[in-house]
Amino acid sequence: MVQAVTGELRRPASLTDEFLEGLVARVPGTSGATWKLTEVYSGEVLVELPQSTPEDIEKSFAKARAAQREWSQWPLKKRLKVFRKAHGLFVDNAETTADLIQAESGKNRRMAIEETCDPPMVMSHYLKRAPKLLGPTTRGGPVPVVSTSTEIRQPKGVVGIIAPWNFPFATGLSDAIPALIAGNAVVVKPDNKTALSPLYGISLLERAGLPKGLFQVVCGEGPDVGPTLIDNANYVMFTGSTATGRTIGERAGRNLIGCCLELGGKNPMIVLEDANLDEAVQGALFGCFGNTGQICMHIERIYLPDTLYDVFRDKFVAATEALRMGATYDYGPELGSLVSVDHRDRVASHVEDAVAKGARVITGGRARPDVGPAFFEPTILEGVTKEMLAGSCETFGPVVALNRYRTVDDAVALANDTDYGLNASVWGTDLAAAEAVARRVQSGNVNVNDILATAYASKGTPSGGVKQSGVGARHGDQGLLKYTDVQNVGVLKKQVMGPQPGQTYEAYVKQMLMSLKLMRRLRIR
Ligand code: NAD
Repeated sequence: MVQAVTGELRRPASLTDEFLEGLVARVPGTSGATWKLTEVYSGEVLVELPQSTPEDIEKSFAKARAAQREWSQWPLKKRLKVFRKAHGLFVDNAETTADLIQAESGKNRRMAIEETCDPPMVMSHYLKRAPKLLGPTTRGGPVPVVSTSTEIRQPKGVVGIIAPWNFPFATGLSDAIPALIAGNAVVVKPDNKTALSPLYGISLLERAGLPKGLFQVVCGEGPDVGPTLIDNANYVMFTGSTATGRTIGERAGRNLIGCCLELGGKNPMIVLEDANLDEAVQGALFGCFGNTGQICMHIERIYLPDTLYDVFRDKFVAATEALRMGATYDYGPELGSLVSVDHRDRVASHVEDAVAKGARVITGGRARPDVGPAFFEPTILEGVTKEMLAGSCETFGPVVALNRYRTVDDAVALANDTDYGLNASVWGTDLAAAEAVARRVQSGNVNVNDILATAYASKGTPSGGVKQSGVGARHGDQGLLKYTDVQNVGVLKKQVMGPQPGQTYEAYVKQMLMSLKLMRRLRIR
């Protein structure tokens, strides 16, 4: 049984009523309706979060649009200066940010502090890359010398961002950073449960010089807020479940606006015969149970060759049972809570369904109310099939199924036997062979000898899902360019296209076709 770290639950001194009320004061809520935002470890109310009406949301967009008109006129250098300063502020205030993330999400402090690093990493990348991407690019026009075409990047206007609760600070802010750098305003809708850390991040951005009004926050239940938010936005960035992503994509499509959808996964890990087993076991511990299994890129299916199955299972079970779980605000616990009692019950229902249909629990499988209201043990299952919820749907908790394979072809086929395609992990010491397997997995991200960080933290490379795991990507050049419209400005210095005075149309056609061939041969066009 997994160990519990005991100790008195002491809320961090930073989380005073005044501080929390100051944060939520930014959220419009003219109806007076509020949502009780609670500390996950204790179930106690931290603050009453205003709920925004459709009229509040429209007003927020109007304010954002007014601020954006000015912001988009700032030279890029001046906009970037804000993020250079913000980078330092985010790092210097990481511990306070971690206090908020932990209180609202229940994750352990190790994960909370890692989460605080994501927005600065995104800032750092685009501080370097944005000048190249956003500057005008002059290209050759159709007729050499006398014509040019210039690619100009215009901001879309106001970007609507809808964020989930599992990485509230990262998903609430990291996707906003390139949108703002590109000259847009942002209206973000965080999950009600986890609105505090993004609100704090926005206050830091404003301390760094971001104009007031440019970054708005609206709150409420998704179906109440979503339609008005999408109908007022020029682009939508959504992170959340595949089911909600479909609703968002449909509405964006009807409005003829672009959207990026970062959705769920059922991510496989393939251990090859030559893998370093101890490293693979350590990787699996983080992959399956990091953030208490509430990472979109975490592992829910492990595929092992027959020859390694038993030894991997024994080491993995022993390492899992040695994990320390706890409701504390220090760096002790390796595992934190699930986000809510509702979510704990959903995770438990996947385990119960699997057991009822013939799967075996090798370790874990139980709620741990002795540690905190929403704690659930890290759970390893055997004998899971696709007929079980845990075999086909995203569980999004600390539950993993071990599976055997005979050949590498079988392993790849099993890994691909899912509607999802967000992340995968392949372990082997022959790197070329492991990478060859990685390329055969239908997944937007694949990590060799790692679970997720190597791909996800490479901010220069786009990261997104394929199949039912998403549309579009964050990071990389497209993570910034998606927030822009391209404008093609063509300039003709002299009117030369068409027959010249006195030239017959037949002669003009002959000359035009000849010049096409010539330009091809000389590689001019
Ligand atoms: P969710 O889809 O229930 O909610 C996500 C957000 O959408 C929340 O803010 C919610 O209030 C809002 N929402 C819900 N219904 C809505 C509607 N009809 N219109 C507009 N907004 C609506 O997802 P969740 O349970 O909060 O988050 C967990 C899911 O997110 C998992 O599936 C996980 O894999 C996924 N996720 C994906 C990534 C990624 O990058 N691919 C990252 C983190 C989480």
